[in-house]
Amino acid sequence: MATLDGLPPLRDVIQRHGLDARKALGQNFLLDLNITQKIARTAGPLAGMTVIEVGPGPGGLTRAILALGAEKLIVIERDARCLPALAEIGEHYPGRLEVIEGDALKIDFETLVAPGTPVRIIANLPYNVGTQLLINWLLPKSWPPFWQSMTLMFQREVGLRIVATEEDDHYGRLGVLCGWRTQAHMAFDLPPQAFSPPPKVTSTVVQFEPRLQPLPCDVAQLEKVTQAAFGQRRKMLRQSLKPVGGEALLARAGIDPQRRAETLSVEEFVTLANNL
Ligand code: SAM
Repeated sequence: MATLDGLPPLRDVIQRHGLDARKALGQNFLLDLNITQKIARTAGPLAGMTVIEVGPGPGGLTRAILALGAEKLIVIERDARCLPALAEIGEHYPGRLEVIEGDALKIDFETLVAPGTPVRIIANLPYNVGTQLLINWLLPKSWPPFWQSMTLMFQREVGLRIVATEEDDHYGRLGVLCGWRTQAHMAFDLPPQAFSPPPKVTSTVVQFEPRLQPLPCDVAQLEKVTQAAFGQRRKMLRQSLKPVGGEALLARAGIDPQRRAETLSVEEFVTLANNL
């Protein structure tokens, strides 16, 4: 069957290169190029852009990003079995695809592109490392970060934690961190059947834009207060925050000690962190 980009269907690619999915590498492949195009489009205009993709696998999302006009695409893949399939895509789009074999958790992403180059990150992340990668991208040394947008797939439950705000059951440390530095929204869900093999849970694509001027705050201090507060999320703050200053800290920040972690806005967590 012909495909829009003239490359072979992904099922054939997977079969020809023996890419049976490995659970340990979080491999749940997207085989429908309409779906991968929908994800790539969510990122915004790609023409002339530099894009970084983690975990291209057999290349479904890679192909969509290139077909939509990304000038340069840098992919990082840990599974060497995928490299020949990715090389075929590179030949189809000469000079536009750079493949790095390696562990994305060990890569210094800021050094991949020249400073000042606008970058979009787009990825169907391996679930076992997705949250850690997200946190790494939220905590670069300087801000605004090297990326202009991130379009990332997560388990829906993680997506709900990312976009959660106060009074929401899913609100926690991740929601505070994401809300502090980014504006994030869930773009759309994908059912298990969209993947091969299907995972056990629904997935969701989350779109992030960096806040250009997040409230000034030391991230280590912010982590300290959110860790203490959400470590005992059902307790009153005067109890849960005891290890980091308790009632005195709450008084300095002007926050009622009888409140619970899940009722505090991001701004209030920042105020607490700045009063530590
Ligand atoms: N992008 C492909 C797609 O949408 O069909 C594959 C997505 S699959 C969920 C995750 C991919 O990430 C796999 O190809 C896997 O080998 C790769 N991967 C897993 N851990 C990785 C790591 N630490 N660094 C780089 N790639 C990794």
